[in-house]
Order: sequence, then C-alpha cells, then structure tokens
Amino acid sequence: MTQTPRPPRPVTELVVTDTERLTPGMVRVRFRAADPAVFAERFEPSVFTDRYVKLAFAADGRPATADESDVVLRTYTALDPDVGAGTLAIDFVVHGDQGLAGPWAARAVVGERILARGPGGAYAPDPSADWHLFAGDEAGLPAIRAALAALPPDARGYAVIEAHAPDHVQPLPAPVGVDVRWVHGGDGVLERTVRELPWLPGRVHAFVHGEAQAVMHGIRPHLLKERGLPRADVSISGYWRQGRTEEGFRTWKAELAAADPLV
Ligand SMILES: Cc1cc2nc3c(=O)[nH]c(=O)nc-3n(C[C@H](O)[C@H](O)[C@H](O)COP(=O)(O)OP(=O)(O)OC[C@H]3O[C@@H](n4cnc5c(N)ncnc54)[C@H](O)[C@@H]3O)c2cc1C
Repeated sequence: MTQTPRPPRPVTELVVTDTERLTPGMVRVRFRAADPAVFAERFEPSVFTDRYVKLAFAADGRPATADESDVVLRTYTALDPDVGAGTLAIDFVVHGDQGLAGPWAARAVVGERILARGPGGAYAPDPSADWHLFAGDEAGLPAIRAALAALPPDARGYAVIEAHAPDHVQPLPAPVGVDVRWVHGGDGVLERTVRELPWLPGRVHAFVHGEAQAVMHGIRPHLLKERGLPRADVSISGYWRQGRTEEGFRTWKAELAAADPLV
C-alpha cells in the first residue's frame, strides 16, 4: 500500500529584534519574521489567546537550522502577534542552566534566528460566560496575560498567579472586575488559593495552566469534581513538569492520560 506523504509542518523563521529582562525570572524576547508574508498566512486565522509556537533547537542548545534532522522542540506562548508588522514576543521563564529554551532566551542576542512551528492553540475567553477564572504559574502567565487583554472592560473574575518570589511580580493589565492575586511560596499555594476563592454567581469559564503536578493533580479535581464544572468550560493542562524535560513530560502526560479518563 502506498502512503500519502504528510505535508511538511509550517515553519516560520524568526529573528530576534530585542530582549528585555522583565523580572529576575523572566525575559521577553521580541521577534520579527524573516518572511512577513509567511508569518501573516500562519497567524492570520488564529483566534486563540493561548496560541503557541514550537521552537526548534539542536541537542546542544543552539537554534536548529532548517536542514537539521535531529531537532528538539520547546513550546511557548506567542504574545501580540502582529500580522501587519510580522512580529511577536515570547516571555521565557529563566529557570537556570538546565534545558534548552530557558538558557537560550537568557542569553539571546539581537539578530539570532530561530525556527518556529505553528501556531497551535485551543482557548479564547468565552464572551457568554458570567465570569472567568485564570490560574497558573510564570509559564502560564503569558497565556493568562493574552486572555486578560482580550476580555471586555466589564468582565469579572479572578486571576491567581504563582510567582517564584515577590520580585517576580509584573504589571498585569486586567479589567477592574478581575481580581488579580499574586501568590508565592510553592507547597500547593496556587491550589489552596483557588480553593479558597469566593465563588461568583453564574457560569465560569476557567483557564488553568502551569506545573503539571500542581495543575492536574491539585486544581483539576477541584474544578471538575468538587465544583462540578463541565469539561467544556475548563481549559486545563500542565505546561511543564518539575524535574522533567519537555520530552520526559510528554511521556508523563501519555501515562496520565492512559490512567485517567478525565485527562
Ligand atoms: C502550550 C504551552 C505554552 C507554554 N508557554 C510558555 C511561555 O510562554 N513561557 C514559558 O516560560 N514557558 C511556557 N511553556 C512551558 C515550557 O514549554 C517548558 O517550561 C519547557 O520545558 C521549557 O524548556 P527548557 O528547554 O527551558 O527546559 P527543559 O529542557 O524542558 O527542562 C529542563 C529542566 O528545567 C525544568 N523546567 C522547565 N520549565 C521550567 C519552568 N517554567 N520553571 C522551572 N523549571 C523548569 C524542567 O523540570 C527540567 O528539570 C509552555 C508550555 C506549553 C505546553
């Protein structure tokens, strides 16, 4: 039997135009697409606020080149894509010397090129919801930032962000009716804070993304089982897993999905 070859995954070449240290734990890297027409074609149809790209690295940590076959992918939220200008930004958590993308972003220089697949995405705040719940850590913060920016001025709800320390807190514009709470200290503080929120009346649309154990074993059962939210009203997933690379994390997710039908 002959197999139809799969079309190649769309790839956009991005050029670093600027880097900005937002906090001790986060760097914003701004990019311009090498080919703005290709960028516009890829990003124009995307309506999701959690739109993400997969950046391609070689195993030694440098950005992979187009002809390289042994490529390692790292997933990042694409902020403020401007299809007219062919630009976007990525806020990278700087988490030390481990890994590829975090260390690369910490030392990225203007003019460097990196290949990005995507965008993918699955969530945008539902305008028919009565209120919104956002919860996440610093890896989930960029997607929460994009969702807050897309809310109408009269939107209501909560945004709970776990930051490593008080000096990791950033300005986070939100409608006045959205109560933004920063928490620190680890040890289940994100879950505890979400559990203790005074629930608002009406239908909530929830967006919860961060360290996988905290999100999937802590907050997910609370929302789906204890609060009884319909699965369709909850966007929830781990964005990374403590002690695992992104590849190791994918294995963890596959095992969790096999063991738990709610995933
Ligand atoms: C849809 C989606 C969107 C995402 N958006 C963003 C984003 O906008 N910004 C962002 O920073 N991350 C984001 N992430 C998370 C990011 O993909 C992971 O953190 C990724 O593992 C980082 O790759 P790395 O090469 O730096 O580290 P890896 O090689 O994957 O891991 C090396 C080590 O670093 C640890 N590590 C990885 N990430 C973190 C972290 N955030 N904090 C502390 N330790 C960590 C790992 O546990 C491991 O021990 C997103 C993930 C998904 C699925």
